[in-house]
Amino acid sequence: MIEGQRTPIESGCPDGFQYMHPVMRKNYGDWAYHEDPRPGVLKHTARGGDAIYTVRAGTQRILDVFTLRKLCEIGDEFAEGYVRFTIRSNIEYMVSDGSKVEPLIEALEKEGFVVGGTKNSVAMISHTQGWLHCDIPGTDASGVVKSMMDELIDEFKNWNMPNRVHITTSCCQINCGGQGDIAINVQHTKPPKINHDLVANICERPSVVARCPVAAIRPALVNGKPSLEVDEKKCICCGACYPPCTPMQINDPEHTKLAIWVGGNHSNARGKPTFQKLVAAGIPNNPPRWPEATAIVKKILQTYKDNARDWERLNDWIERIGWPQFFELTELPFTKFHIDNWRGSRRSLNASTHIRF
Ligand code: SF4
Ligand code: SF4
Repeated sequence: MIEGQRTPIESGCPDGFQYMHPVMRKNYGDWAYHEDPRPGVLKHTARGGDAIYTVRAGTQRILDVFTLRKLCEIGDEFAEGYVRFTIRSNIEYMVSDGSKVEPLIEALEKEGFVVGGTKNSVAMISHTQGWLHCDIPGTDASGVVKSMMDELIDEFKNWNMPNRVHITTSCCQINCGGQGDIAINVQHTKPPKINHDLVANICERPSVVARCPVAAIRPALVNGKPSLEVDEKKCICCGACYPPCTPMQINDPEHTKLAIWVGGNHSNARGKPTFQKLVAAGIPNNPPRWPEATAIVKKILQTYKDNARDWERLNDWIERIGWPQFFELTELPFTKFHIDNWRGSRRSLNASTHIRF
């Protein structure tokens, strides 16, 4: 380091230990088992005998400052001043005294927050950033979550499902979209429309050409200007060209649809991880309540609830009964679009938890 130069400021995640409940800090790495006293509550017991209760409540994820303050006030008054947010946008309060659990739940419910999402319930739907942070969304993932969770509130609050159900939504076809027991993903159905006047000014053409997974984009001169052209017969309407080149507009109120995929599971605890598979396509992207997509999700959940054995995850259940029976029971039409005939996937998709280079 040059003499007199200031020390660089380290950025990145702060050390999480400073924010942990003291009982969690003390027993770090020394937990013996956990129990589920009631929906939305976990009790962890350490080898030394200490116990900590976690109370989980759903939030709308995109939190305004007033709601956040309210949640913190509840944490100070009814819990012990420690909270954390889960990856599915739930807030969790930790208390070491079991007698604080019920008053805390009462305080949360009085303010309109819903306690649940543990064990064999439908957990809060995880969703991608959408319009608030991202420049390419084709739908409002947060709005889809809100409309669906309004209808699934009893499944969040109770242990009604054969096993836990993780639902995800995403607002484009290619990036941070989820893989879950049920995934509601954007589906583009038309190739991008190119604004040739803007391509030369905005896009780095070689990187756009390189991004297309099926090599459908070629450089071209249009009206004497450097631009791009798309071989529409090859294009699979994935939208991967749109983020690096916004003049390749693919979002469209009519032709951007929703698709529902089921059976994805990251875990390899009891079996291999599984890829989700398409079960419903071309569903209208219909804000503000997306009734068509919600009806299909509810039908799949009801069928799973009525037919799966205890503790079968959605993918285990489908594997046992087979896909033909899944389509029969859910009354979803099986069409030629459900058949994956893209042979390139064998080589390029990673089907194990191991990283390949
Ligand atoms: S899913 Fe796509 S559109 Fe939505 S936030 Fe992620 S990258 Fe952006
Ligand atoms: S939408 Fe996808 S397949 Fe079509 S041109 Fe763009 S990158 Fe290629």
